[in-house]
Amino acid sequence: MGILSYLTGFGGRDMAVDLGTANTLVYVRGRGIVLSEPSVVAVDTRTGEVHAVGMDAKRMLGRTPGTIQAIRPLKDGVIADFDVTEEMLRHFIQKVHQNRFAHPRVVVCVPSGVTGVEKRAVEEACLAAGARQAYLIEEPMAAAIGAGLPVGEPTGSMVVDIGGGTSEVAVISLGGIVVSQSIRVGGDEMDDAIVNWCKTHHKLMIGQQTAEEVKLEAGSATELREEVRTEIRGRDIVSGLPKTVMLSSEEVREALRDPVDAIVNAVKETLDRTPPELAGDIMDRGITLAGGGSLLQGFDERLREECQMPAQLADSPLTCVAVGSGRSLEEFETIHRVNASNGRRRRR
Ligand code: ADP
Ligand code: MG
Repeated sequence: MGILSYLTGFGGRDMAVDLGTANTLVYVRGRGIVLSEPSVVAVDTRTGEVHAVGMDAKRMLGRTPGTIQAIRPLKDGVIADFDVTEEMLRHFIQKVHQNRFAHPRVVVCVPSGVTGVEKRAVEEACLAAGARQAYLIEEPMAAAIGAGLPVGEPTGSMVVDIGGGTSEVAVISLGGIVVSQSIRVGGDEMDDAIVNWCKTHHKLMIGQQTAEEVKLEAGSATELREEVRTEIRGRDIVSGLPKTVMLSSEEVREALRDPVDAIVNAVKETLDRTPPELAGDIMDRGITLAGGGSLLQGFDERLREECQMPAQLADSPLTCVAVGSGRSLEEFETIHRVNASNGRRRRR
C-alpha cells in the first residue's frame, strides 16, 4: 500500500462487496473474503439509531421489543430501504477498512434485474459509505467468474444463482451476458412457503427463522434416499398456545413445490431462448449452480432431470459471487467495459 498505491489508485484496500438480500460478503484485494454477515440491521425506532448490524441483528429478527426493529434493507433483490442499506454498507466497509482516511474503490455486485434507479441507489450508498469510486458488476457475471467459467471465451456458459430474494439465470459468452432472466423467487420464498404450509396444514404459526431451519434440515427438490422427519415448534393458531409438530421431508418438499418449480422453469425458459450454438456448449459443460439456495438437497439432480443436461454446484456456492467480484478488481478493464453502459460515478 502506501503513498504510491494511493496515487495510482490501486491500493490493497480496494474491495468488492456482494450485496445480497440474505448475506453481504466483502472481499479485500490481496486478502480475500474478510467478512460474511447477514444483511440485517437492527434500528432503534425512537431515535433511528443503529443498534446492531449483521449476525447480531439477525438474531433479533422476530424477537425485538417494540422499540427495536430488525430490518432486512434489501428485499426481493432490490433496495427496499435506502437509508438502512447505506448504514449497513458503511458499517461493513468501515469494519474491514483499516485506514480510515483512505477511500477505497468498491466493486459492488447487483442482481441483473435491478433498474437504473436501483443501481444508482447502490452506487450512492457506497459513495456515502466512504468509497472513492463505485463500480457495479452484474451478479451472474460475478458468479461465473467466481466459479472459474471461461467467461471471456467464445463459448456458452450457464450460471444459475439462487439467492435469498432472487434467482438469476444467465448464459455468458465472450465477456457478456447473452440471455438472462431474473425472478424474484429465492430462498426467502421457500421459507414463506413453509410458513404457509404449517399455517394451512397444521394450524401452526412459525417464524421465518424456524422455517429456514426446517428448509436446511429437511428441505429437498427430489426424493431423498432417506426421508427424514423434523420437529418444529410454533404457536397453535386456534388455542394460541405453544405446540410441537413433526414434519416429514416429503411434506416439506410438497410445501416447497411452487418456488422450486418457478426456479426450474426460469432455467428451462432461458435455455429455450439460448442460441443453438451456445446451447450446445452448455450441453457439454453443464449448468453451474451458485448461491445459498442451490444448496437445497437434490436441486442439482432435479435440474439434470428436467433440463436433460449436466448440472453441478460451484465449488463454493455461497462465496463465489464475492470471489468473482473480487477477481474482477484485479481486472479493472473488464469492469470499465461493463460500466460503460451504466456510467461511472465519482465521489463528490
Ligand atoms: P443472497 O445472495 O441473496 O444474499 P445467498 O446466496 O447468501 O443469498 O443465499 C442465501 C439463501 O440460501 C437463504 O435463503 C438461505 O436460507 C439459503 N440456503 C443456505 N444454505 C442452504 C441449504 N443448505 N439448503 C437450502 N437453502 C440454503
Ligand atoms: Mg447473491
